[in-house]
Amino acid sequence: MPGDNAESLFGNRFLTQEVPTESFPDGGMPPTDAMRLVAEDLALEGDPQRNLATFVTTWMEPEAQRIIAENLHRNFIDHAEYPISADIEQRCVRMLADLYNAPGPTTGARTQGSSEAIMLGALSLKWKWRQRREAAGKPVDRPNLVFGNDVHVVWDKFCRYFDVEPRTVPLREGKYVIGAEDIEPHVDENTIGVAAVLGTTFTGHADDIGGINSFLLELKEREGIDVPIHVDGASGGFVWPFLYPDSVWDFRLEQVRSINVSGHKFGLVYPGIGWLVFRETDDLAPDLVFEENYLGKTDATFTLNFSTGASMVLAQYYNFVRYGREGYGYIMAGMRENARILAEGLKATGDFDLIGEGEEQLPLVAFRLAGDRNFDEFDLAWQLSAERGWMVPAYTMPPDAEEVKLMRALVKQTLSREQINRLLEDIKTAHATLTEKGGTHPRERRQTKTGIGY
Ligand SMILES: *Cc1c(COP(=O)(O)O)cnc(C)c1O
Repeated sequence: MPGDNAESLFGNRFLTQEVPTESFPDGGMPPTDAMRLVAEDLALEGDPQRNLATFVTTWMEPEAQRIIAENLHRNFIDHAEYPISADIEQRCVRMLADLYNAPGPTTGARTQGSSEAIMLGALSLKWKWRQRREAAGKPVDRPNLVFGNDVHVVWDKFCRYFDVEPRTVPLREGKYVIGAEDIEPHVDENTIGVAAVLGTTFTGHADDIGGINSFLLELKEREGIDVPIHVDGASGGFVWPFLYPDSVWDFRLEQVRSINVSGHKFGLVYPGIGWLVFRETDDLAPDLVFEENYLGKTDATFTLNFSTGASMVLAQYYNFVRYGREGYGYIMAGMRENARILAEGLKATGDFDLIGEGEEQLPLVAFRLAGDRNFDEFDLAWQLSAERGWMVPAYTMPPDAEEVKLMRALVKQTLSREQINRLLEDIKTAHATLTEKGGTHPRERRQTKTGIGY
């Protein structure tokens, strides 16, 4: 029989005991046990390297990791004590405003991600709309927001949380982004703004932001109704400026008043950072900025959250100065090239149709099965994951294109040519296996709209 202290001598007592999961533990455990317990749980989780579902960064340079690790104790909101971190945030905002061609000095904020940035940007749209209406002596009780069903779920969330009527444009087979003709019937004097997507979650394409801008300018001219555009550049905001610099979607367009982007997607920073940038300082409704007296200093805040780590802001600044336009351009071009190889490989099999190939697109491949067969995209996703551990999601498109099933592979910085070739072979093998035996995956595993929204 081992002695009483055997486990403290020879290792982890959770080799043979249940781990605490329900009630608050009565006692504690040594740090090594706690560390192993957490690590062993996570060992069974998906491998981020093979996760081709997520837009979110899964790798950063060791130097960046070091900055992150060394600043985990720094509370970003504590501007009085950490003024340099706050200054670095503003440097990043100015750099983004420059990247998005803002006409002059402006303002913006670091957020937890695009979701918080969108809530704040859309709130500002609502406040500015109310201001315009009140100045004109018009009612302010029925605000609406216009967007396509190609948006991320956060836009529906905003409308519900903040009591704005969503006016959504349905999609249909073959049409997965929206343009001026789609929003025209929905826009009126109660429209606080139009949300346009730069790089949709579903196929990686952009709404026709230029066309929407032209229509809204004409509307302003004709009827005096000024409807601003907010561009949801969660993914595209770090792709378009580098891959498609001549494509005009940003503050070069007069009606584009605010833009959000996820630092933790193609900004190449680990999760926990997003950005909101206004065209001009005046586009941020002053009522949304709180002047507070905290710990003896007054400070202006414009956030939904309060305390948060400074690490990801510092890591974003690291990336900006480390890569610059040249470095981001190089990295994005590499991803696009690998996405092209994957797309061509899939097409050459004759078993797949690509979605919107040749158009401006995020570095990803969106595809569906071609021809008749006794399995579907969900079966293939399941088989690929079972055989090789690749996470390539299958999903149905939003209304009214729900009949369309797609698969999508993100091609990120870490997916090398070698891995692209392997993935192609693995997709072919999974397809061959299914052709032989048909699809059998459990239907309840199907992913939903939110399942790919990250
Ligand atoms: C990911 C995404 C969001 C949400 O962004 P988070 O940074 O995850 O909060 C919003 N819109 C689009 C288009 C996205 O791709």
